[in-house]
Amino acid sequence: MTGRRPPEKPGGCAVVRSGTILGAGPDQTDAGQVLICRGRVSRACPHQPVPIDADGCLVAPGLVDIHVHGAHGHDLTDPDPAAWQQALAAHLAAGTTTALATLASTSHGQTADALRTAAALTGSPVTPTLAGVHLEGPCLAPEQRGAHDPGRLRTAEQLLDELTPLPEALLMVTLAPELPGADALISYLAGHGVTVSAGHSSATPSQLLHAQHLGLLHLAHLWSGQSTLTRPALHRLPGLLEASLASDGLTAEVIADGHHLPPTLLTIALRCLGPQRLCLVSDATAGTGLPPGAVFRTGASTGRVHDGGYAATEDGTSLCGSVTPLAGCAARMREMTGAPIEDIVTMATATPARAAGLYPRKGSLLTGADGDIVLLGAALEVRAVVLAGHLVTDALAGRAR
Ligand SMILES: [Zn+2]
Ligand SMILES: [Zn+2]
Repeated sequence: MTGRRPPEKPGGCAVVRSGTILGAGPDQTDAGQVLICRGRVSRACPHQPVPIDADGCLVAPGLVDIHVHGAHGHDLTDPDPAAWQQALAAHLAAGTTTALATLASTSHGQTADALRTAAALTGSPVTPTLAGVHLEGPCLAPEQRGAHDPGRLRTAEQLLDELTPLPEALLMVTLAPELPGADALISYLAGHGVTVSAGHSSATPSQLLHAQHLGLLHLAHLWSGQSTLTRPALHRLPGLLEASLASDGLTAEVIADGHHLPPTLLTIALRCLGPQRLCLVSDATAGTGLPPGAVFRTGASTGRVHDGGYAATEDGTSLCGSVTPLAGCAARMREMTGAPIEDIVTMATATPARAAGLYPRKGSLLTGADGDIVLLGAALEVRAVVLAGHLVTDALAGRAR
């Protein structure tokens, strides 16, 4: 995409009152309100901030989804800016105020085109929630590829070549660290500040630790696309899953859409890692918002939406991402684990923002943070969304603006 970027919508001035504030600093909680001046959380605002009555809701930072592939039939590997605008707007209306556009494995040409679209759109008013790109693949272990097209997987050397020089918008890469040549790729990405994540991988505990020493910081969707315990002879060998749960210092994702993981596994993940290391992600595909039976594309693969709120590959053998925006996953995580609401909010805001290197500007309501807020009801349903000080959706008033 070329041409001049339209001027950024200036941040608004607003004051959110009469709610329970989460993720704020002492400045805001003392006053029982969150003040936003010109789009940033502030101690003072001389511009007559617009009052927003939270009506007893939880006042939380806007949700941060670091693993989201699309919505409403639009997959983000489609380099058309209109597709990105519509997909990200759907997630914004559902409470996601910061998104890492996540690209499943597809051809080199299409990935490069999508990265160019991302560079043009990041920070633009067309897609105000777009923080950058998360490449999920194409350097993945074939036996753990899940819904990724085997014909689109590439070697670490090939991906290193494709990503040199580093694309502007790239914030995160999920790869299989045990593959030949991965060391150089991990070192290159980590050295440039890109978050490296292990996923769709059969890495052993020692391979994971080695990658961590090279700069790997994160783990993609626990239990999905990860090797697990085996017992080839007398002795048990832990897989990437057990290595992840026993790890120190790494952050990790779970897809708590009610289909990928049952309550027992979510509880194990939360007990092992805690809310400061466990991130809720949607892994939401283009199938999000489509009716049952709808067929959609994700990367170079095809999925189908099923009754009951899930999507599977066409042959029905594997789940194909989710069809639930992040706020829905947060609500399901609360139902399935009974974790405190503060911890659920942390896992959908501060922890993923940290994992992507965006905290505290995103994922917090500390002074100076972006004025992105969700108002949540008692079941964590989204009641209103504020983006850079502007009210975007307002279920409290029963209308969208
Ligand atoms: Zn995946
Ligand atoms: Zn994914």
